[in-house]
Amino acid sequence: MALGRGAGRLRCAGPLLASLLLIASNCYAVASDTSHAIVDRVPRVLILYPYDERLAATTAAGEALRNRLLEAEDGKVDLFSEFLDLSRFPEADHVARMGRFLAAKYAARRPDVVVALGKESASFISSNRASIAPDARIIAAGFGNSTAESIDLPGDVIGAFTTFEILKTAEMARKLQPNARHLYIIGGSSDFDRGWLATARADLDEFSRSYETTYLEDLTIDEFIERASDVPADSIILALTIFKDRAGRNFIPREAIRQIAATASAPVYGPYQTYIDYGVVGGNTVTFDTLGRTVGNLVADVIAGRPVSNIQAPQTNIVDARQLRRWGLAEGNLPPGTVQLHKEKSLWKEHWLAATGALGVVLLQAGVIAALLLERRRRQDAESRSRLHLLEAVHLNQSATAGALSSSIAHELNQPLSAIRNNAEAASQLLRSGNPDPELIQQILLDIQEDDQRAGDIIGRMRGLLKKRREIDWQEFDLNDVTSSAIHIIHGEAERRGITLNTNQPTTELPVRADKVHVQQVVLNLATNAMDAMMDAGSPRKVLTFATGLEKEKAELRVADTGDGIPEERLSSIFEPFYTTKQAGTGLGLSIARAIVETYGGTISADNRPEGGAIFRVALPLARREERGQ
Ligand code: ADP
Repeated sequence: MALGRGAGRLRCAGPLLASLLLIASNCYAVASDTSHAIVDRVPRVLILYPYDERLAATTAAGEALRNRLLEAEDGKVDLFSEFLDLSRFPEADHVARMGRFLAAKYAARRPDVVVALGKESASFISSNRASIAPDARIIAAGFGNSTAESIDLPGDVIGAFTTFEILKTAEMARKLQPNARHLYIIGGSSDFDRGWLATARADLDEFSRSYETTYLEDLTIDEFIERASDVPADSIILALTIFKDRAGRNFIPREAIRQIAATASAPVYGPYQTYIDYGVVGGNTVTFDTLGRTVGNLVADVIAGRPVSNIQAPQTNIVDARQLRRWGLAEGNLPPGTVQLHKEKSLWKEHWLAATGALGVVLLQAGVIAALLLERRRRQDAESRSRLHLLEAVHLNQSATAGALSSSIAHELNQPLSAIRNNAEAASQLLRSGNPDPELIQQILLDIQEDDQRAGDIIGRMRGLLKKRREIDWQEFDLNDVTSSAIHIIHGEAERRGITLNTNQPTTELPVRADKVHVQQVVLNLATNAMDAMMDAGSPRKVLTFATGLEKEKAELRVADTGDGIPEERLSSIFEPFYTTKQAGTGLGLSIARAIVETYGGTISADNRPEGGAIFRVALPLARREERGQ
């Protein structure tokens, strides 16, 4: 696509409308009155590209045009594209051959609208329209009014013109560099370049008065590069076009600008989108996208039969964000609506979808974890509350047991105390006898020591029985030992009641993990119940048997009596709290026993023995090897 140039030289002096009227009178007719809508079939639009399909300037505009058109027509449009490649094949013979080829190609599908992008396409279709698209409306786009004038477009061709106003680019530069004092304007030596310089002089007349202004012209490329690298830092450099330098070297303008901008000592601006990526900060221009959409709207109007006329494609300020950073120019000083190219997206903008997804997952996980923690906390609270209740209940139960056993314990305690008193009396008599036998006195003193030990043990067991727990005192112990200590506690009471205590000889160690005092309380509860049952039954033979052993890999304790047993229908209810058949009973002993056993992962059950009497079984898990450090 040819580079259009500033509208200044073509302007009569008046505003845009005046210049359009001037253009119209110069032979670009405004052809709205002949329009008619295409109603009986899907409209055909042929887009002519001047170069091959790899040239971004025209293909980008063409893509925007296609998209806009498909959107406007809701997809009901037949789009054809021809890449004429006229810059590489400009020969008249070839152009004529191409004209004949396209005429034949579109013979059966005559286009309704032809869009000619660039002046080469516009010239081509102007000369070949009769054979290729005799009834089509022609829309030419992508060049300025002056170019349109020079190629002498037919009167009914509608133009979507692109005008490049250097003043708007200069104003953008002023906003970005409010402290600049110098202005440099660069232009080449071709006719087009010189024309641009003249337009700029006129357009920037007013603007340049605020600066120390220098036109860099009639220079070789090396001189351009050197001068630009030596300008003061508070300078604005405006680059127009350099198709040719003073030495007659030809350039694609952006290539020449690239060399200059690379070593320039101040920011360079230019009025073309193609200069972006070539070291230029930016400028006011018609973007390919804007041009494509403008043409798309024009074509849609033509298809609908709406009146159309020549128009100017809207201009946009564009900048290269990388150059803003290079020169330290503040984004905040950009004119409103400026398009920033190559702007690095923030991490958030770049990855917002993934970040939002990840955040959602994290929040979800956090929610689930929080709910689980809350639930666990609630469970722990409930567990610790119920543990506290259990500890309280066990303690009350212990006190009750101690109370019930107090007379037998007092009796039991009485025995060693009496023995101590008797032995002490005997020893003092011996000493008074005048010839005391030291060996005998020694023996008496040993007996006193032993009895004192027995009394101490009884008090110790009593104290242990009444010990109040604030927390479970987890420890590993042998179930046989706890059974023996419980038997020690009740043996006085059993004796008082005429009950024979039977214990099996433990054959194996039964390590369990629990609170020793609690398990002992279970044994005591079962033993006192058994003694009560035998007393109630009035059976002549009262035997209370304790047996321990390994049963199904659990430590088991069996407590059997020779009472009347438990009525079958009551077997399931005796563990319920407050179930009692005794006059002064509380109905709590067995329910507390069950609560204790279950706290340590065990079970408790009751049964009747075939030979009479009841048997209670307590099973506790064996302490695991690793817990025992084995
Ligand atoms: P309490 O001893 O205060 O009644 P328990 O919960 O210890 O409360 O016992 C509940 C009931 O279970 C007793 O009242 C009794 O009827 C029955 N029971 C418990 N042990 C035996 C047993 N060895 N023989 C017969 N009945 C028993």
